[in-house]
Amino acid sequence: MKTQVLIIGGGFAGVATAQKLEKQGIETTLVDRKDYFEVTYAVLRDVAAPEKTNGQARQYYQDILKGNFIQSGVKTLNKTTALLENGDTVRFEKVVIASGSRYPSLPLAKSLESTQLTTRVEELKSHNSKLRSASHVLIIGGGVVGVELAGEIAYAMPKTKVTLAHNSDTLLNGFKEKAQNKALKQLTDLGVIVEFNTRYKENDEVYTDENSGRYINPDVAFVAIGTMPNNDFLQQNFSHILNEKGLVNVDSNLAVDGQPNFYAIGDIADVGEAKLGYLALEQGKYLGKALGKTFKGKPTKAYKRNPFMALVPTGQKTGVVQLPFMVSTWKGLVNMKQKDLFISKTYKEFAK
Ligand SMILES: Cc1cc2nc3c(=O)[nH]c(=O)nc-3n(C[C@H](O)[C@H](O)[C@H](O)COP(=O)(O)OP(=O)(O)OC[C@H]3O[C@@H](n4cnc5c(N)ncnc54)[C@H](O)[C@@H]3O)c2cc1C
Repeated sequence: MKTQVLIIGGGFAGVATAQKLEKQGIETTLVDRKDYFEVTYAVLRDVAAPEKTNGQARQYYQDILKGNFIQSGVKTLNKTTALLENGDTVRFEKVVIASGSRYPSLPLAKSLESTQLTTRVEELKSHNSKLRSASHVLIIGGGVVGVELAGEIAYAMPKTKVTLAHNSDTLLNGFKEKAQNKALKQLTDLGVIVEFNTRYKENDEVYTDENSGRYINPDVAFVAIGTMPNNDFLQQNFSHILNEKGLVNVDSNLAVDGQPNFYAIGDIADVGEAKLGYLALEQGKYLGKALGKTFKGKPTKAYKRNPFMALVPTGQKTGVVQLPFMVSTWKGLVNMKQKDLFISKTYKEFAK
């Protein structure tokens, strides 16, 4: 089949691009292995307290996308065509690489298996029921996901012992010190046991800290340590557009360096911004608008990078907000996210 713009991946970046382009009358085809979009921000609460999000985080692509959708994976990308895992070939004028990242150590964060919305819901339910019968939960990794997961479980299941083990001496590496300390205080107030400078290794469901020799035997363990870019389909013909981290190199217009008609955004691209969903969505909106102009032969402006901002909930009531010039735990700000974890905001942004 033929399309004006092929979009590889239906995360925040890909869906935002598709919607913006369709609004300008440009024909898009989005390819994703899944049949649903998921607001990742809500996944950890879905695991700890599913009754609070009521399954609102996921929607079928067919219900939100204005353009064409193919449920399949891109196997190999060529200069003007993509070979799909279902055997089809899509010919394109331009391609947007928005294949994001995966969380190999923590598949519940971004599912590797559940390509259907219904199976994803079952997957999350099964994590929730395991958690409900656990008396001790170990979370390894004190980054944003580990901190948030510890807070969600400790808040929703106050009788469960939650240990958060981190390999350095501060949580939330890369955040301001004040934010790191506030998150630590909020978690310990919820009863989370935070262990620093640990290196737990599992053997037969027993976790031993290689630094201290101490071992623990949790009922459930989550390893929240790092993402990997989804770049397999680029390896055959375009490994030269990837940097040493496996991210696609892009210029100031989010065009792929040295590869005409190729663009990359979101977690897969080296844009020079944090790897966050709201930034992937911003990049998608920008690119959709810019490509619309390009098709009309009009000039485009460079993408304006955003400063780092984050709002990390620690359970259902508290959280830490880091803005460019301040760190805050003020309820007025925290509740902006606590209300529905930005689920409705995300879908509203897509509809704009
Ligand atoms: C648990 C969790 C909580 C988070 N919380 C926040 C938060 O509160 N705020 C925030 O801003 N960010 C948050 N993030 C980060 C955010 O989810 C990511 O930055 C965001 O998902 C990146 O969006 P993306 O569109 O670039 O890629 P992704 O969301 O990774 O989407 C990529 C899509 O591409 C598809 N794909 C991959 N390979 C192929 C292929 N070969 N062919 C076809 N399709 C393919 C995948 O199926 C996927 O649907 C969180 C992440 C996690 C895991």
